[in-house]
Amino acid sequence: MNYTIGIDLGGTAIKYGLVSTEGGLVFENQLPTQADCGAETVIRNIIEAVKTVQNKADELKLSAAGIGIGTPGIVDKTNRIVLGGADNIVGWSQVYLADKIEEACQLPTLISNDANLMGLGEQAYGAAKDSSDVLFLTIGTGIGGAIIIDGKLFGGYENRGTELGHIPLFFDGIPCSCGSVGCLEAYASTSALIQQFNDKCNKLNTSFGNEITGKLISEFYHHNNSIAVECLTNHWAYLGRGIAGLVNIFSPQKVVIGGGISESGAFYLKHLEKEFRKYVMPDCAVNTQLCLAKLGNKAGILGAAQFAYTNLK
Ligand SMILES: [Zn+2]
Repeated sequence: MNYTIGIDLGGTAIKYGLVSTEGGLVFENQLPTQADCGAETVIRNIIEAVKTVQNKADELKLSAAGIGIGTPGIVDKTNRIVLGGADNIVGWSQVYLADKIEEACQLPTLISNDANLMGLGEQAYGAAKDSSDVLFLTIGTGIGGAIIIDGKLFGGYENRGTELGHIPLFFDGIPCSCGSVGCLEAYASTSALIQQFNDKCNKLNTSFGNEITGKLISEFYHHNNSIAVECLTNHWAYLGRGIAGLVNIFSPQKVVIGGGISESGAFYLKHLEKEFRKYVMPDCAVNTQLCLAKLGNKAGILGAAQFAYTNLK
């Protein structure tokens, strides 16, 4: 098997590509998910994406041997069915996704959680290349992630675990999207950072006139804006504490931080590292290095292709 098709299904776009086993992206493109139109439409769009790659492969006289798909939500232990837990696509639960794509495209197909496959992409081809034990966290609207042990994705019994954003940080904390309170995601996601920033601005009767983003808060931080400094300092403390908990348990070689905010620069990693070292047990973290993700928005496609390659052989 020399080429596989990688698909990264998101709430807004379906990113897809033809990938060589060495991680070379031969061809890539994307189309709108149409997540509001429901499961049948989204499946039709994924099939269109696969057919586009197949046509391109034919043109190049290459052939894809299988399909890997990263999807939001919880995937069953056979890596074929989306069980649920994906609130960004309407009707995305109990979807026999691998069967439907296989039937329509006549290629063996496997699916897994999108953040899991981004982590796998970073471990196979990106920031954690050459490491066998890796934690991956993607910081965005929520916090997703992956645990890779001895080169393989760890999913817990029946693949029900690795919801890394839902580590309980505070027993009396604010409500979380998962139904619990005080989770890491509710404090350390980019959305949470923006919320904290806006709340402080409201309290102080200050306004910046534009829509606040994680990137903008980073810029304000560099201009020594006191609200940005306070919010980012808290963000690093929350996130550092969450990572410390995970490292105390898994003691990985690398903790890879992805998501838009991680692209704000080396200062981000430096401060996060400082907070993380404050809370972690030194003996557990002696082999652990924090680093920023390298593959950007291609991690999902590459990880999905790699997942198909390793598991369909
Ligand atoms: Zn939660």
